[in-house]
Amino acid sequence: MDRYAVFGNPIGHSKSPFIHAQFATALGEQLQYDAILAPLDGFADSWQRFVSAGGKGGNVTVPFKEQAYQLAERLSDRAKQAGAVNTLYIDSAGKLCGDNTDGIGLVADLKRLGVNLADINVLLLGAGGASRGAIGPLLDAGVRQLVLANRTVTKAQAIATHFDQRVEARAYADIPGRDYQLVINATSAGLNGERPDISAAHLEHCQLAYDMLYGSANTPFLQWAKEQGVPLQADGLGMLVAQAAEAFYIWRGKRPEIAPVLKLLKQQLAQ
Ligand code: NDP
Repeated sequence: MDRYAVFGNPIGHSKSPFIHAQFATALGEQLQYDAILAPLDGFADSWQRFVSAGGKGGNVTVPFKEQAYQLAERLSDRAKQAGAVNTLYIDSAGKLCGDNTDGIGLVADLKRLGVNLADINVLLLGAGGASRGAIGPLLDAGVRQLVLANRTVTKAQAIATHFDQRVEARAYADIPGRDYQLVINATSAGLNGERPDISAAHLEHCQLAYDMLYGSANTPFLQWAKEQGVPLQADGLGMLVAQAAEAFYIWRGKRPEIAPVLKLLKQQLAQ
């Protein structure tokens, strides 16, 4: 049976084995998908062992996405733009290929939520790997202007140099007054019970507040957006399932449906 796995540290919390098992069942694919705890200084060895034992492909999560980027012999344009790899596979020439499906997963989830990205202004908060990976796919989907704001503005400025003038880097206190129809929180502030410190005025025209973080309860950012009267809030669980669906498509050539698996995961989180 073809073997796949997600590599991370820690990895016990990962929902990827469940998600891929559901995809495989739904599409009648015979495969095994495991979670592998790689040592912090041993990702490359862990991957090589897996491939030597017949592993066909992998997902990569925190903190190995940059190491996977270095390890890959061929990189997709999406991976190059993101500066990180979350999906690995061996191509027909035996080369190790790295792709990044996080950003395309976000866009797929936004479309599922009914967002028309063409010609809108987006405020993207955070300048880590997840934020950088989202920018290319958001621009490809037709976003007019994207303000990339971060607590440490130099990080946002460094990312903006990889894109054209549609991307503008700002500090939180310096975000231009504009009609932002979509505000995305790509910071990890919610893990500490915090939200990015931006003015409520930036939410005035916002139709959807999106937080890449997910969990059983509303994140602090989504709770705040709700209090400010933003009509729709969504967390990153849909993005998680959608990025996994893209990885499954890369490996198996079949694109799974997102909605049924998302429903099951939401039920699990509510328990
Ligand atoms: P990184 O560690 O690379 O970046 C963290 C970012 O959060 C930085 O911009 C940092 O700002 C900012 N930050 C942290 N704490 C605060 C705070 N208290 N106030 C304001 N900003 C803060 O993380 P990632 O980019 O990998 O991930 C970001 C989030 O996205 C995480 O919550 C992660 O779980 C989520 N994610 C979700 C995915 C999904 O499929 N749903 C996929 C990938 C990520 P500074 O630069 O100033 O330190």
